[in-house]
Amino acid sequence: MKVFKFGGASVKEAAGVRNLTRIVQSQGRGAVVVVSAMGKTTNALEEVVRAYASGDTDQTTAHWASVRAYHEAIMRDLAGDHFEDTFQPVLETFTAVETYLRQPTTGSFDQIYDQIVSIGEVVSTQIVAAYLNAQNVSTYWADARELVYTDATYREGKVDWEQTSRQIQALSATRPKQDVIVTQGFVGRSPNGLTTTLGREGSDYTAAIFAFCLDAESVTIWKDVPGVLNADPKWFDDTVLLEKITYQDAIELAYYGATVIHPKTIKPLQNKGIPLYVRSFVEPDKPGTAIGDFEQHLPISSFIFKVNQVLISLHPKDFSFIAEDNLSLIFGQFAEAGVKINLMQNTAISFSVVVDQNPARVPALLEQLRQNFRVNYNEGLELVTIRYYDQNTIDRVLINKKLLLEQKSRYTVQLVVKDLG
Ligand code: ASP
Ligand code: MG
Repeated sequence: MKVFKFGGASVKEAAGVRNLTRIVQSQGRGAVVVVSAMGKTTNALEEVVRAYASGDTDQTTAHWASVRAYHEAIMRDLAGDHFEDTFQPVLETFTAVETYLRQPTTGSFDQIYDQIVSIGEVVSTQIVAAYLNAQNVSTYWADARELVYTDATYREGKVDWEQTSRQIQALSATRPKQDVIVTQGFVGRSPNGLTTTLGREGSDYTAAIFAFCLDAESVTIWKDVPGVLNADPKWFDDTVLLEKITYQDAIELAYYGATVIHPKTIKPLQNKGIPLYVRSFVEPDKPGTAIGDFEQHLPISSFIFKVNQVLISLHPKDFSFIAEDNLSLIFGQFAEAGVKINLMQNTAISFSVVVDQNPARVPALLEQLRQNFRVNYNEGLELVTIRYYDQNTIDRVLINKKLLLEQKSRYTVQLVVKDLG
């Protein structure tokens, strides 16, 4: 059994749904097909959440209307003016959402967020499943809100593997082998039956969850790029397609911020030795990138580039050393502020960290840190990570940049730089 994952870009319009159907027809009989919300729907639903949570009825209605209209246009394109006949379940979902949005809010912001934002995946999968069936691909729509059990951490649900395995295996056992199962990425359920989500871009992770639970033969992530490249073409010319990557390298690249695979995706697959393919939905006959148990590491350097970085340097006010007690205080404050550390380095009496700029979180964190430390910071920086570096690649990256901090390990170098324009 194979697991396929289609991201939002692959189904952002009716042509994408048709293309998905062709790929499933030719390569995905009997597959579990995990689908994200269409196009930028998740962002659009975040607008709905913000309006609804702040009690702005007009904005709520307006934002929701545009989400609805976007999906209706896709359904009309796929099935003509009588699309209601084909897509009845979608219309039921729309009605349920509209009922929900008319009620007064209940629960925390994050709880509300998950109830609304998950609708993007519910609707996209209802459209895809109905369309596949209409094209005579026998398809079962599975509700991940009854399969992927998580704790009650809304927006970042932690998977309960035991429950989840039981549910997914039970479902799979009832389905004929040749049938396609279509389900939502990103979505789960909390112990009390409310919907949770797994963190933004979490649909890849869902594919890995299903693959793990079903001992799948492989996972394929269908993307709008030819596979995993050694750098993001947005920042680098002359990128190279990596044909084979070890799990280890894939985890490292994702950890340092390569956005092509969600960081949590690799571990479950590595644990069971399930290969992961990253392939192009535009050129579905090309092999793309294979990630698996390979002997050799990447033959070429990979580059990961993050902008909008802040370098924070902390100096204990009493000139004490940076040691266990200081470090646990510092890490505690970062964790509490919800600010993720991209890089850290210390000397005897200073500690430097690089984080993403986040106006909602970083200033408050700096305020906290100032209670115990003298704090310097430097904004508007770039963080470049090179895996399998040599001096030559470093020199190339540093052209026209001022180097503020450098950290090397055996295979990876990280450079914090300021662009000199
Ligand atoms: N639709 C969700 C998001 O955009 C999950 C995903 O695409 O993987 O974050
Ligand atoms: Mg998405």
